[in-house]
Amino acid sequence: ATPTALMAGTGRGAQLGILIKGPEVLETTRRADTVVLDKTGTITTGEMTLLATHVTDGTTQEQVLRLAGALENASEHPIAQAVAKGAEREYGSLPVPEDFTNVPGLGVQGVVEGHAVLVGREKLLEVGAPPGPELVGGPRGRALELPAELAAAKEAAEQAGRTAITVGWDGAARAVLEVADAVKSTSAEAIQRLRALGLRPMLLTGDNRTVAESVAAEVGIPAEDVIAEVMPEDKVEAVKRLQDEGRSVAMVGDGVNDAAALAQADLGLAMGTGTDAAIEAGDLTLVRGDLRAAADAIRLSRRTLGTIK
Ligand code: ADP
Ligand code: MG
Repeated sequence: ATPTALMAGTGRGAQLGILIKGPEVLETTRRADTVVLDKTGTITTGEMTLLATHVTDGTTQEQVLRLAGALENASEHPIAQAVAKGAEREYGSLPVPEDFTNVPGLGVQGVVEGHAVLVGREKLLEVGAPPGPELVGGPRGRALELPAELAAAKEAAEQAGRTAITVGWDGAARAVLEVADAVKSTSAEAIQRLRALGLRPMLLTGDNRTVAESVAAEVGIPAEDVIAEVMPEDKVEAVKRLQDEGRSVAMVGDGVNDAAALAQADLGLAMGTGTDAAIEAGDLTLVRGDLRAAADAIRLSRRTLGTIK
C-alpha cells in the first residue's frame, strides 16, 4: 500500500475508535490468524461485585470481611476492590494492615489486627506465606485444607461462572467469597465477527478453569480454546507457544499482567479502558474498550492493504 493509503487507514481507524501506533501496524494486523483474549476487563466488564460469603463454623462474616477487606483495600486488583467495597458497605471503615504483600496472580497476604491473613486462590494458601512461618500456611509448601463445606461452596460458585476466593488466617482456611463481573454486552458479537473474519478466538486467564470455561461458553469460545490458571508471567509463554505452532497471534488485554504478552504477540491490542502498562505495550488501542473494535481493526487493515474491497 502507498504511504497515502496507510495514512488514510490510520485516520479511518481513529474514527472507529482504534488508535494505531504506526502505519506499519496495519500489516501485522492483516496477518493475524489467532486472537488471544484476556478475560477480566477484556471480555468482561472488570467491575466485580462481592456476591456471597461462606464461612466455617465458629467464624463470622464480619470477621472475614473486616480482615479480608483490610488487606484488599491496599490492592488495586478488581477482585480486591470488590471485596474491600463489599466489606465497607457492611461494616464501615476497615482496619489498616500492619503488613501487606501483593502476590500477583494469586492474591494478597499480610497481618491485620495481629492475624496473619491470606486472601486469594487456594494455591496461595498452598504456597504458604513467603515472609515467615507466622503467616497462614505455616512452612512454605504446606497446603491448608479447605473444609468440605467451603470446598462445596467453591465448586458451586465456579460452576456458575463466579470466581471463588479463599480467606484464611492463623493457619486455617475460614471462608470462601464469591465475586463476579458481567460479560460485556458486545463480547459475544465481537467474537462471532472475529471468527467470521477467519480468526480463531481463544481465552487466556489467570482465573480458575471452571470459571473460564463458563465465561467462554457465554461468548462462544469452545473449552479446547481456553487457557486458564495461567500465572501473570506465564501469559507470555502461552503466546510464544501459539507462535511456535506457526500462528500469527493478536493478543487483546487490559491489565498490568497482560503487558508482557501484548508485547510478545505479533499484534498487541490494548483496551483503552485498561491500564497504562497495557496501552504502552500494545500496538493498537481500542479506545472505547469495545471488543468489536478488534474486528473493525482487522477489516480496516485488510481494506487498507487491498486484501478486500
Ligand atoms: P486475570 O488473568 O483474569 O486478569 P489475575 O492473573 O489477575 O487474573 O488473577 C488470577 C487469579 O488470582 C484471580 O482469578 C484470583 O483468583 C486470584 N487473585 C489475584 N489477585 C487477587 C486479589 N487481590 N484478591 C483475591 N484474589 C486474587
Ligand atoms: Mg484483565
